[in-house]
Amino acid sequence: MTIRNRISLQFTLIVASILILFSVLVYITSAEYRQEEYYERLTRKARTTVRFLVEVKEIDRNLLKIIDRNTLSALINEKVLVFNDRNQLIYASVDDKIINYQPSLLDQVREQHTVETSDGDNELVGLLYNEQGKSLVVLASAYDEFGRSKLSNLRDTLIWGLLGGIGLTVALGFFFAGKSLQPIASINQQIQTITARNMKQRLDEGQQQDEIDQLAINFNNVLGRLEQAFEQQRMFVSHASHELRTPLTALKSEIQLGLRRRLSGEEYEGVLKTLMADTERLISLSNSLLWLARTLESLQQVKLEVLRIDEVVFDAQAELQSAHPAYQVQVEYVNLPENDTDTLVRGNNDLLRRVVLNLLDNACKYSADHQAWVLIATDPQYCSLSVRDDGIGMTPEEVTRIFEPFYRTGSAQGYDGFGVGLSICQRIIDLHQGTITVVSEPGQGSTFIVRLPHSTI
Ligand code: ADP
Repeated sequence: MTIRNRISLQFTLIVASILILFSVLVYITSAEYRQEEYYERLTRKARTTVRFLVEVKEIDRNLLKIIDRNTLSALINEKVLVFNDRNQLIYASVDDKIINYQPSLLDQVREQHTVETSDGDNELVGLLYNEQGKSLVVLASAYDEFGRSKLSNLRDTLIWGLLGGIGLTVALGFFFAGKSLQPIASINQQIQTITARNMKQRLDEGQQQDEIDQLAINFNNVLGRLEQAFEQQRMFVSHASHELRTPLTALKSEIQLGLRRRLSGEEYEGVLKTLMADTERLISLSNSLLWLARTLESLQQVKLEVLRIDEVVFDAQAELQSAHPAYQVQVEYVNLPENDTDTLVRGNNDLLRRVVLNLLDNACKYSADHQAWVLIATDPQYCSLSVRDDGIGMTPEEVTRIFEPFYRTGSAQGYDGFGVGLSICQRIIDLHQGTITVVSEPGQGSTFIVRLPHSTI
């Protein structure tokens, strides 16, 4: 069932129940009121008749019958019966009609003094009359034609009103439900037109006020993030293929050069060495690309453990110096850790070693003296590492872009590298809920500062 139908059905059920309840209540109250009013009239009638009978000595019973039948207030089907203390009928206002009553009713009247009941369609009132030593029972009954016809009119009006009301509720409910759901239908239509090709398209956010506008705003935010992710993937693929093509083209032209004419053994050796260097560059590039792809996708699933950040730094230092014996790295503490837990962080050893290695490698690579200084500092909340060099440095604009994949500064063009290391570092540090910042000046050197929160163990 559509939401529109469900809402209109629920709305109709609620309104119909209220209408039915209200109508039944009005009908019952009116019916009770009619009956009570009629009993009162019958009681007055019974009293008048018995008073005439007992108190007006001169009145003749036949005359009383005539008066009874002809008074202006005579009721339809009216019958008045009076019984003496031995329950013998001493007066009946009509002779021709049979008057139904149960003898037990007379005893009931004597017991309760007043009885209000019905005799078929007629209302019947029984009264005990105790005066001048006489104990008479009067039964008065009549048919309330006027009251009943008013009641049946009321019932018809209520039934028709109810049917009309329910019909109107169905129509209005359907109309208004459709109207309130219209923005959702329009959002649905707009969403159907969004595909991977037109990720720039956004939903109409209306007045940015109601829940549906809020839904559109949230959906647009999701679209924005998706578009960004798509764009990242696209850039990655295009940069990656560009980066791969350069060394592959170099490889191809070297092979062509080698094939063009017969070379001496030494020349072949030279070509093979260049091929080897290019192949190594290719391997290192594809490793970096793999890392970048991994950080784009599945870094969230890596295992974190409690580790000492200074040990990570020493491991990275040893690894770097064994790969590049010419590089020099000095590690110092700003203040010697007072206890072992001061340098503890929660992280992944391999990932953090990779970050430190990348920063140390860059620091040594981009400085003429191939030297880097690492300062380890701790405060109550963070462990921080600063990696400083006296190298080529960067302009403030360049600093804002170095964490973008494949970005390389102008002055770094003469150095080996693909421009992906820092973007991997940034993602790893984000994963550890830390920060990485840079202070640099062209020609003066750079300092990279990594801050990682302490492990809570
Ligand atoms: P790569 O060093 O392989 O090019 P990175 O992602 O590690 O890639 O660095 C991105 C760019 O940031 C480098 O190409 C370089 O322009 C700049 N950079 C990084 N570290 C330094 C540094 N210590 N001194 C000067 N420039 C740096």
